[in-house]
Amino acid sequence: MNAPFPRAGILDIAPYQPGESKIAGHARVIKLASNESALGPSPKVRDTIAGATDSLHLYPDSTAAELRAALAEAHGLEAERILCSNGSEEMIHMLARAYAGPGDEVLYSQYGFIAYPIAARAAGAAVVVAPERDYTTDPAALLGALTARTRVLFLANPNNPTGTHISGESLRALHAALPPRVLLVVDEAYAEFADATDYESALDLARSAENVVVLRTFSKIYGLAALRVGWSYCPKSVIDVLNRIRCTFNVTALSQVAARAALADRDHVEAARAHNARWRPWLAAALDAIGIATSPSLGNFLLAHFRDEEQARAADAHLRQDGIIVRPVAGYGLRHHLRITVGREDENRALVASLARFMGA
Ligand SMILES: *Cc1c(COP(=O)(O)O)cnc(C)c1O
Repeated sequence: MNAPFPRAGILDIAPYQPGESKIAGHARVIKLASNESALGPSPKVRDTIAGATDSLHLYPDSTAAELRAALAEAHGLEAERILCSNGSEEMIHMLARAYAGPGDEVLYSQYGFIAYPIAARAAGAAVVVAPERDYTTDPAALLGALTARTRVLFLANPNNPTGTHISGESLRALHAALPPRVLLVVDEAYAEFADATDYESALDLARSAENVVVLRTFSKIYGLAALRVGWSYCPKSVIDVLNRIRCTFNVTALSQVAARAALADRDHVEAARAHNARWRPWLAAALDAIGIATSPSLGNFLLAHFRDEEQARAADAHLRQDGIIVRPVAGYGLRHHLRITVGREDENRALVASLARFMGA
């Protein structure tokens, strides 16, 4: 070799495929591909950003102190145990890098978020996958896949792309059965939408555990995906570790003020939650009525099940002809499926009308 080459394993990583936002020949599209907010951010965010442009020449607060204080206040947590990041995806990468490397294993669930194996491989660690049952995380399978080399267990609850969840009770039992040296990372990107009575955020569990990290994001219910703000609630020891490796100014100044404004507008968050609580069941029922089953979802999206791979692909192509972009999930091994984000009312109705024509219903 007479050219630079990456560390072993890097070229085995399949690049993440973001949801598309354009279709050739369509000036306007309906994008239901990335679980973005149907309502967009609080209108207060725009004014806040406009008012913060006088100091663009100054570095942001590297500790995001005011945002962390606001998060601590809103969630009843200790600010010194909160860390902000450039989206929660950055936190996933930092955790994998800090806690796993060559010779270690990172464990996750079969249809778990694809950022986990990417981050694990980027860190040089081996990826171990535990099978699911009914498109749902199976705690027994995760426990059965533990080895002496397991360092991190990533678990999204509710999960993306399936939308399914495990109960608070199951999560607590899973944690109780884990060796204390295994870091349990509970990714709660959709926690604010989760409305099942048996669902529990892991924030309470994390309060007293030495090996639990909870991830949250401003990309979903808060509608700030463009600004890249995530945060985690961690044991103090984990905060200390992450502060040694993170990029110093990982959350921009505009992102910090925008997130504070979004957090403060409780009415807007409630409107987004209520919108989803109304339209997710509507969409599931409408799809069911035309012969498309969906997995029970606690997120702002549905995993739609088609007859086979060919039908899923044809449905995707049909939707695109109608200017509608949903998310193929074959990269997850979900070849008969498409993931559909809950949109605005007009978007949801257009999606169902298009799929009804496709199904001949
Ligand atoms: C969308 C999503 C995230 C959030 O990613 P950001 O980097 O914060 O935009 C994290 N985890 C899961 C499971 C998601 O679906």
